[in-house]
Amino acid sequence: MFSKILIANRGEVAVRIIRACKEMGINTVAVFSEADRESLHVSLADESICIGPAQVKDSYLNMTAVLSAAAVTGAQAIHPGYGLLSENARFARLCKESNITFIGPSADVIARMGDKDQARRTMIEAGVPVIPGSDIVTSVSQAKAEAARIGYPVLVKARSGGGGRGIRLVSAEAQMEQAFQTAAAEAASAFGDSGLYIEKYLKPAKHIEMQILCDRQGNVVCLGERECSVQRKNQKLLEESPSPSLSQPMREAMIEAAIRAAKAVGYENAGTLEFLADRQGNFYFMEMNTRLQVEHTVTEMVSGVDIVKWQIRIAAGASLDFGQKDVVIRGKAIECRINAEDPDHDCRPSAGTVKLLHTPGGPWVRFDTFLYQEYTVPPFYDSMVGKLIVKANSREEAIRKMKASLCELVIEGFPTNSELQLKILSDARFAAGDYDTDFMEQLTGSEGRQAHGHGLAQAEKGGQA
Ligand code: ADP
Ligand code: ADP
Ligand code: MG
Repeated sequence: MFSKILIANRGEVAVRIIRACKEMGINTVAVFSEADRESLHVSLADESICIGPAQVKDSYLNMTAVLSAAAVTGAQAIHPGYGLLSENARFARLCKESNITFIGPSADVIARMGDKDQARRTMIEAGVPVIPGSDIVTSVSQAKAEAARIGYPVLVKARSGGGGRGIRLVSAEAQMEQAFQTAAAEAASAFGDSGLYIEKYLKPAKHIEMQILCDRQGNVVCLGERECSVQRKNQKLLEESPSPSLSQPMREAMIEAAIRAAKAVGYENAGTLEFLADRQGNFYFMEMNTRLQVEHTVTEMVSGVDIVKWQIRIAAGASLDFGQKDVVIRGKAIECRINAEDPDHDCRPSAGTVKLLHTPGGPWVRFDTFLYQEYTVPPFYDSMVGKLIVKANSREEAIRKMKASLCELVIEGFPTNSELQLKILSDARFAAGDYDTDFMEQLTGSEGRQAHGHGLAQAEKGGQA
């Protein structure tokens, strides 16, 4: 086992990983930007090193700075968390070349799954259903021909896309040219790669993803699914496990597909296969996230498995000490992402100083955050400041517990999306578990549509105008 791990991240996920290390008796090294000097992960870690200015490209994305910090402190492994360098194949390769263990899959697997077009082809070969789509299209005319073959509406998607970017909805051929150009430009600036492909636009659809854990010895387990259809700007807002709308035969088929896919790519460590499911019981592979997921917490709550600890054990060479038959899902868990954002101003990110913080408690209530009283949230990073997670025996009870916990949560100093989360939890369609990825649009109406700043939803708005 490692004696020292460097955490190449910030915010709540850095805190989450430091906690796991402490419980495992592993020393921790935090890296931080100049704007994060007062951040909680810095004070919780055993050692900390400043790696550059506030902008992520100069600090958290500066691979040389991160690797130097590991070398200087003698850290044997790096946990990348989510976002930032977590899906950067080059970084994984550099770690290996520097004799530092990257806690995640191999650089080759990251590269193969990070290219969505290549990932689709890998899944087809593995016999996993994919959304009807095309190979890479290099011109507008080729895109039109492929879209005509697949049938409108379609999505133009960036091969290197992530975080909901580089996606455009095209309802008819006349919109293709503009969608193609804007998606290519967005992808080029965000990912340095303008490669695009076409996918059938599925609607209504549910976003259901499968959590897997794979050790180096070839053992694969699936810890069940997460339902992530509550999204705004293609970003998840609330997640739950198990999904309220998945039949047992469909769940079993998806678990089987996820395990088959993981084995086909020779996957190692924790990973997530994202699927879209329609109302006829079909499901299609959408993409694989080769890292820890924000919403891994709901899976932990219902499976009793600490996913971060297993990431570390697997990276150190340990075998899984349980098999698929030992995976027992108990209860219903819900996570609400708490974002610092202003509901009165188009949900734009808001940051400030925490004047008062009261966190909810009680059995099976978990609040993962990096906030503390008098802490000033820097304006440079993600707007997510915490995740509230609850578990109960029934879904109805879990919803009530979440509402009570949200009401108890007090963050004074800047506005958050707590009220919006309460609105979601109070909605009849949500209570019935009967919702698709268009849920937020229906809940917030035209207001919600205006809130979409980019990508899919904005294109959809244009498409229907
Ligand atoms: P999850 O499926 O785990 O919810 P998200 O898509 O929300 O994943 O991304 C996890 C984190 O990484 C978020 O903080 C998100 O803002 C960030 N992120 C994901 N993809 C990108 C990207 N391409 N560029 C910048 N940030 C990203
Ligand atoms: P990212 O890498 O940005 O997370 P995804 O491919 O996972 O991109 O898509 C993000 C979201 O966009 C999905 O969760 C889903 O809501 C929607 N989406 C993606 N592909 C399709 C599709 N073919 N049909 C309908 N919705 C889709
Ligand atoms: Mg995705």
